[in-house]
Amino acid sequence: MQTVEANVRHSLEIGGVSTDKLVEEYGTPLMVYDEGMIRRNARAFRSAFESSELDFQVAYASKAFLCKEMARLANEEALSLDVVSGGELYTALEAGFPAARIHFHGNNKSEEELAMALDAEIGCFVVDNFLELEMLHDLASKRNQEVSILLRVTPGVEAHTHEYIMTGQEDSKFGFGLSNGQAETAIQIAARKPQYKLLGIHSHIGSQMFGTEGFDQAIQILTGFVYQMNKKYGLALPVLNVGGGFGVRYTEDDQPLTISEYVTAISESVKKHYTTHELPYPEVWIEPGRSMVAEAGTTLYKVGSKKIIPDLRTYITVDGGMTDNIRPALYQARYQAMLANRPDEDSTELVSVAGKCCESGDMLIWDLMLPPTNYGDILAVFSTGAYGYSMASNYNRIPRPAVVFADKGESRVVIERETYEDLVRKDQ
Ligand SMILES: *Cc1c(COP(=O)(O)O)cnc(C)c1O
Repeated sequence: MQTVEANVRHSLEIGGVSTDKLVEEYGTPLMVYDEGMIRRNARAFRSAFESSELDFQVAYASKAFLCKEMARLANEEALSLDVVSGGELYTALEAGFPAARIHFHGNNKSEEELAMALDAEIGCFVVDNFLELEMLHDLASKRNQEVSILLRVTPGVEAHTHEYIMTGQEDSKFGFGLSNGQAETAIQIAARKPQYKLLGIHSHIGSQMFGTEGFDQAIQILTGFVYQMNKKYGLALPVLNVGGGFGVRYTEDDQPLTISEYVTAISESVKKHYTTHELPYPEVWIEPGRSMVAEAGTTLYKVGSKKIIPDLRTYITVDGGMTDNIRPALYQARYQAMLANRPDEDSTELVSVAGKCCESGDMLIWDLMLPPTNYGDILAVFSTGAYGYSMASNYNRIPRPAVVFADKGESRVVIERETYEDLVRKDQ
């Protein structure tokens, strides 16, 4: 890529395809995934578990990014799939994803969604609350269907980016509290219900975690609970699902561990605590979302208007914004970017990157060094692959961008760009 002739325009490449070519072929804004990177991530999770010699499932948390092609990729890479709604379930089934490897999450699954998942005979329901515990069983009884379930519990450990904290209150909308006895009550109810096959417990303690101490704390608490349920009620609880939340790099300030380091820490922790309690090793399930797809995604925008406020700030505006990436507005998320069409030029201008929506909060990046920008330059914003397109909206009636997979010099559309006709399709 560095050896191009002087008269050949040189641009950033993704999956071996030049961004010039991608923009020419598909337009902007454009979401481009390096497909090979997603596959390498999937393999890294699986191979680290294989070295641990524990039984495992790696369930991709599809809310991070899902379309039919992503579900097919997850299937090809032998992942399981977490869904949290009828819509995600429908997408997975339409893509031919094996129902037996689908896990259904969510704190308010409707009767229709539960019925749909029962019809499909999905592999596991992660039961979140007492209403669901009754409703799912009633539906399963009527069908005389056996259902595998995990119970989602809140271990009282809350993990954040840099540290974890122990919370006494377990103040969360998700799951059954361990310390207040609700998890034990739920276990007793589940164990008595004939259609239920109670596989074990689940917890998800946070997101964008850079350390592993939170996992170790949670696993210690979960193991203690499994031990008690084993002693008191003779329950085996063969599956331990420790959730997702592995950190990724959005900017240089983010220093995540490698996938293999996360998995190794989790498997060591499980072995340690299960050995202490003299329990047989469980099958360990994890649920990476962000860490599977975030860094594989890049958004390409066309630079438009520029507003220079002397001695204050220079705004450059791109042809997308909070409609395709709401994370900066929602979480003050930070991103790195560069000019894809002039990647080697020195960055000498301090700018802030605005979106085109009618909201002052529609900013993508504050204070970014770029080469002097012109109308028509292509801005590549990195690590946009998770919770970007999946949170996209049609605010201001802006059509959602196209999504492309690029790999080994080839690219293909996996989600078509929305059209204006799409925008009025449901209007009466
Ligand atoms: C969101 C979520 C995940 C994935 O979290 P990431 O931070 O994207 O890895 C996994 N499990 C559950 C239950 C979730 O809600």
